Amino acid sequence: MHAITNSGWIEVITGSMFSGKTEELLRRLRRAEIAGQEVAVFTPAVDDRYGEATIGSHDGRSWDATPIDPETGLEAVFSACNGEKVIAFDEANFFSHSLVDVCERLAADGRRVIVSGTDQTFRGEPFEPLPQLIAVAEYVEKFRAICAVCGEPATRNQRLVDGEPAHVDDPTILVGAAESYEARCRHCHTFRDD
Ligand SMILES: [Zn+2]
Repeated sequence: MHAITNSGWIEVITGSMFSGKTEELLRRLRRAEIAGQEVAVFTPAVDDRYGEATIGSHDGRSWDATPIDPETGLEAVFSACNGEKVIAFDEANFFSHSLVDVCERLAADGRRVIVSGTDQTFRGEPFEPLPQLIAVAEYVEKFRAICAVCGEPATRNQRLVDGEPAHVDDPTILVGAAESYEARCRHCHTFRDD
């Protein structure tokens, strides 16, 4: 692809679960739509909580999105995009590391790229590719939720299995399993390591 202008850039919206990332993404997409800008939204095909072809926040608003395979489907973004100036990726923590290169190429091509996803695993470790995207982005916004235990600002994803903290050796990505999540602060966040 050839750059059509130098005005492309990358925006990252990150933070823990329940911090309002997708609400913020939807807000930005609406602003672009009101300005008459064409928007393309991609979501990892693993996440069908809100139906295959939409992104949604917990408050029920949604936006049409194109589901793509998070490991092998990213090249399809280039054929799926037409003239859109605004390209968004939701749940970006489910995508492979190739997302970094794809976002860089889209920005170099003059697009505004908006990426939303959590930056920490349930263990509280950096959750690629978000940390890499944060490093190369022009704009980064990190949101906090409210700790479900103590009410202080929360940056961490507490994974629970049958109401108990998950084990540290559990896989990082679990989709459709019986686990649940809470937002918690550093102090209240925990996992089993026995
Ligand atoms: Zn707390």
